[in-house]
Amino acid sequence: MAREDDKAEAMEIDGEHQQAATTAVPDDFNADYLRIYYGKLFPHGDFFKWLSYGNDGKHPGCDESYVGRREFSFTLENDIYLRFQSFDSVAAMESSIKEKCPFKIDIGPVYSVDPAKRHAYAQSGNNVFVPVERELIFDIDISDYDDVRYCCSGADVCIDCWPLMIITIKILDASLRDDFGFNHILWVYSGRRGVHCWVCDSRARKLNNEQRAAIADYFRVYKGGENTMKKVSLPGAVLHPFLARSYTDVLKHFFEDKLLLSQQLFASEERYQKILDLIPDENVASELHDKWQGNRRSSVSKEDVNATRWEQLKSALQSGKHKAQGLRRCIEEIVFSYTYPRLDMEVSKHMNHLLKAPFCIHPKTGRVCVPIDPDNCDDFDPTTVPTLSQLLGELNAAGHHTDSENDWERTSLEKSVRFFRASFLQPLLKACKEELESAYNAKLQQSKNTLTW
Ligand SMILES: [Zn+2]
Repeated sequence: MAREDDKAEAMEIDGEHQQAATTAVPDDFNADYLRIYYGKLFPHGDFFKWLSYGNDGKHPGCDESYVGRREFSFTLENDIYLRFQSFDSVAAMESSIKEKCPFKIDIGPVYSVDPAKRHAYAQSGNNVFVPVERELIFDIDISDYDDVRYCCSGADVCIDCWPLMIITIKILDASLRDDFGFNHILWVYSGRRGVHCWVCDSRARKLNNEQRAAIADYFRVYKGGENTMKKVSLPGAVLHPFLARSYTDVLKHFFEDKLLLSQQLFASEERYQKILDLIPDENVASELHDKWQGNRRSSVSKEDVNATRWEQLKSALQSGKHKAQGLRRCIEEIVFSYTYPRLDMEVSKHMNHLLKAPFCIHPKTGRVCVPIDPDNCDDFDPTTVPTLSQLLGELNAAGHHTDSENDWERTSLEKSVRFFRASFLQPLLKACKEELESAYNAKLQQSKNTLTW
């Protein structure tokens, strides 16, 4: 444990020993680095503005207690878990984060009363402590895809399996906007193995648990809630328009043009057998199996074998030879099994679920939980997301004599903060302001009406 050395390094970043400062910062994660990150780089202001949703005290229609009823949860270095933290100002939040230096910050719901004072309220008897608002959230974890990826397993992720996350972003984002009419959607890299989605429209925040469950169900294609390939079932003679669109716009392309090859889905008997097991007609399956068994030593190159076998499978299922009623649907089911988003439904269904905050650092990877642009998610590469040590190195290299207002502007965090502001926060706050305004005017009108009566 090179704790002392790390400390020395950290001091240099503070500028005390500028002569000796090097730009390289040892690539690991520790509390000293994190303290500098919270002190200089974490966008406290933007973060707090987001969670205030326009209730900043500047408009007479503001709910001044709003943000102070939000639960923050800190996980400290020694795994001490501080739940029900609350802050009524950005200054209070910032100083608590800097002081406690949480390894993880989770965001919970907005409660009926200040969560930090819930016991006092409980004693007074007339205030129930219940969650009243919460973003609609989705949590997608790539370790749920272990039965359909061969490059990595568990928490590992690489550029070959990451497209599974891109698929999820594309499908959910399009549906949340087109089918549900939501506009303020924030996608965030979880720092290691997946992505989080925050739907922040006020309509989404006010959904009750029942409505959340209905939305989660809308996305369900897995029977019994289990995210395994064997459980996909596409009901009905005609695919639901959402599923049909997902299939033609996203899933088919990713399956045929990317995953088929990158995951070598038909390259070995074990792998193609898994796909053949999804075909309900045993004759078709065994015919294909025999064919592929026979030509395994053929001249077909490894690269082609996946595409060739997929085409052979498709034509076998589409041919009238087997009176293949319902077997066409089987092609779609195979594609869905290997590509369709695997959501952690429980997270979406309940208001009081905690979810890791954006701009946290993942302690295992040192990577920042940066926002992901859904319109350019094809370009997102989890293996190049800035790490804590990289950011501190950049701070060092930039020195202290620049005219930039914020320290993050001198690091590769700049792109993420700017994206968060311009694409998410500003349009969100504009909408919040308009809603506050019209609710306030309606209230004024109402009281005017009561007066004239
Ligand atoms: Zn991988």
